[in-house]
Amino acid sequence: MADFFKPAARLDLIPPYLFKAIDDKKAKVKAKGMDIIDLGVGDPDLPTPRFIVDKMMEVVQDPGTHRYPAYSGLNLFRKAVARWYQKRFRVELDPGSEVLTLIGSKEGIAHLPLGINNPEDINLMTTPGYPVYQMGTLFAGGFCHFVPLTRENGFLPDLDDISPLVARDAKAFFFNYPNNPTAAVADKDFFARVVDFCREHQIIAVHDAAYTELAFDGFKPPSFLEAPGARKLGIEFHSLSKTYNMTGWRLGMAVGNREVLAALGKIKSNIDSGAFDAIQLAGIAALDSDQSCVRENCAILQERRDILVGGLQKLGYDVTPPKATFYVWLPVPKGLTSMGFTTHLLEQAGIVTIPGNGLGTPGEGYVRLALTVPKARLEEALARLKKIG
Ligand SMILES: *Cc1c(COP(=O)(O)O)cnc(C)c1O
Repeated sequence: MADFFKPAARLDLIPPYLFKAIDDKKAKVKAKGMDIIDLGVGDPDLPTPRFIVDKMMEVVQDPGTHRYPAYSGLNLFRKAVARWYQKRFRVELDPGSEVLTLIGSKEGIAHLPLGINNPEDINLMTTPGYPVYQMGTLFAGGFCHFVPLTRENGFLPDLDDISPLVARDAKAFFFNYPNNPTAAVADKDFFARVVDFCREHQIIAVHDAAYTELAFDGFKPPSFLEAPGARKLGIEFHSLSKTYNMTGWRLGMAVGNREVLAALGKIKSNIDSGAFDAIQLAGIAALDSDQSCVRENCAILQERRDILVGGLQKLGYDVTPPKATFYVWLPVPKGLTSMGFTTHLLEQAGIVTIPGNGLGTPGEGYVRLALTVPKARLEEALARLKKIG
């Protein structure tokens, strides 16, 4: 590279990559020929349901889908999102102004701060959490104020604990339930309290709802938009990725407050050219289906959860079975750090986990396990844990 080239200063804002040490160790363990059980990645191992793939194969043959998509998304897709929200949450959305198609929700989350933040703005976000809330904020020249999730507060933010000075200056509040990584769930009362808090301090509420469909024991996680007044001051991100095992397809949506969505849409129309129409048409088939594929998916995940959590409890771990998400948030044994336990599991048992502190300081003392491997592999992981004691 020419010796005058230097990456932009904003890249220096990216916090140190805490998983580097883990990646190196993983490579070493692999090189030794050890069989690795990867419980690290939050990426479903199960395939996209057949009827969605079939729909894609059909519509991709139509040259009509090969052209530039509409910026805010195919009308038909936005209508299907509105139907799905109505059926699932009893939330009425105007597909024309209250739904925006995204190229996966990560794309929308990362771009949102460019549409709502000025340099030096503060955004609140719960931590440990999905790193993209922070990255999007930093890239837009803003700062983050982290609201801790701890076992004592049920991994729900203590809104009274947020300093009024910080709340006064904050522009947006990012939160996510069912939660990655803690697997905590929120009820409508909590969402109502967030509405009150955001109204009082004039903050835009930004809820990430990626996991509402992955829930167990008959539990139905609510949408933030079910809270009265929510759409007056907030939006919700959702995604087909986790619900329909479609992470590679890149299809999501933002719904709720029309002014906030218009700001995001304006940024997007100047950066990307929308999601592939064929993918949106396949997405409609997914949203309009009887959702039996989602129930089957959850049954598989629930069985895995029961095997893993039951096995861990038998081994003496103090772990709560998650009500939703495909994560288990495991407190590390006394005397160990997240990183120490992660290393121990990797080197001694070939089990990959995510150290909780890598997702935010209050995650210290935990590791995140993902239920994204078949049950035989979970049983094998438990057998190895038993062996290493
Ligand atoms: C997986 C995930 C997303 C988004 O995924 P997309 O594939 O970009 O839609 C968003 N938020 C959280 C917390 C996630 O875990």
